[in-house]
Amino acid sequence: MIASILPTYNRAPLTFVSGEGSWLTEADGRHFLDLGAGIAVNALGHAHPALVAALTDQAQALWHVSNLYNIPAQQKLADALVDQTFADTVFFTNSGTESCELAVKMARKYWYDKGQPDRTEIITFSGSFHGRSSAGISAAGSEKMTKGFGPLLPGFTHLEFGDHDALQSAVSDKIAAILVEPVQGEGGIRPLPDQCLKGLRDLCDQHGILLIFDEVQCGMGRTGKLFAHEWAGITPDIMMVAKGIGGGFPLGAVLATENAASSMTAGTHGSTYGGNPLACAVGAKVMEIVADDAFLAEVNRKAGHLRQKLEGLVAAHPDVFETVRGSGLMLGLKCKTTNTDVVAAGYAQNILTVPAADNVIRLLPALTITDAEIDEAIKRLDAAATTMTEADA
Ligand SMILES: *Cc1c(COP(=O)(O)O)cnc(C)c1O
Repeated sequence: MIASILPTYNRAPLTFVSGEGSWLTEADGRHFLDLGAGIAVNALGHAHPALVAALTDQAQALWHVSNLYNIPAQQKLADALVDQTFADTVFFTNSGTESCELAVKMARKYWYDKGQPDRTEIITFSGSFHGRSSAGISAAGSEKMTKGFGPLLPGFTHLEFGDHDALQSAVSDKIAAILVEPVQGEGGIRPLPDQCLKGLRDLCDQHGILLIFDEVQCGMGRTGKLFAHEWAGITPDIMMVAKGIGGGFPLGAVLATENAASSMTAGTHGSTYGGNPLACAVGAKVMEIVADDAFLAEVNRKAGHLRQKLEGLVAAHPDVFETVRGSGLMLGLKCKTTNTDVVAAGYAQNILTVPAADNVIRLLPALTITDAEIDEAIKRLDAAATTMTEADA
């Protein structure tokens, strides 16, 4: 008999009942150190007092009115995003996959309105992840995500990650946009080097192509800048955001320049829940805390500390780990043993990590993790790796 919850997830036998900062309490009382942060969602950890206050204050005033009316919290968050980024305008969604939908629609409508209705093709890369809607899986294109779900949305050219020659020869006057994650998350924490991001910007400028960044996972302070592309000193035309921006409350956004957004006039797109008062009250508070130079400097300092410790961990367990990679507090340990076994060994030591493709385990701690918690995490990962080597011996 089918489970009452559609069985699309292989869940770990863990049930968390409360959380505080980087810690989660299991129903049986065990305390877990959380290096997954709800897959890069709980940017400020669990039950951050400022977010709890923002949510409960809004909950007492007003939950929902729809986008038929002005929403002050939405305006506040949009103004903050426009103020702190390349963007001139913002549309709010409830998830990353919805942000992907709008990014694709916006890029195609842009060219339609420019009198090039056949310019619909969007270039994407292997190992990418853009959500689970039909557009999202069509964009990523992997067999794992798309098999059996056809007919897929047409108009995506899938290129091999890092294949510069293929990219050069794919460019034509049919290309509407290039869509890329500055740091691939699900694909196994694969950063695109700054040089490549700059190269993509140049290529798009030469051919008038729109550049879309998917910063759903790598954005909102995760890499030590508010958005990951800032490290490369370039900007996109359109950017997808979600995960960390809501700090645990469902919220996403599409940011765009005035030019890229020029075709999205009244009636062309919408969302009942998108930019809901509760979500935006929390999102505005997340922005206030994260988009702060002192906060981001701390993220970078702690990221350096964690990375250095992880290099030591890899050196101490050469049979379990191969290398550390990533950016800021978006780090991956490429494993030699099966990554899901390493994650499970972590569960036994009361530490949470998240598997990714390419046999990687992801470390995506709350940006508020402390130095002492980082040291404790390394202790627990070391213990987990030790049990794996013993099991092999
Ligand atoms: C998680 C993720 C998405 C999809 O977000 P959902 O909120 O799960 O729809 C899209 N792109 C990237 C890079 C992601 O990490």
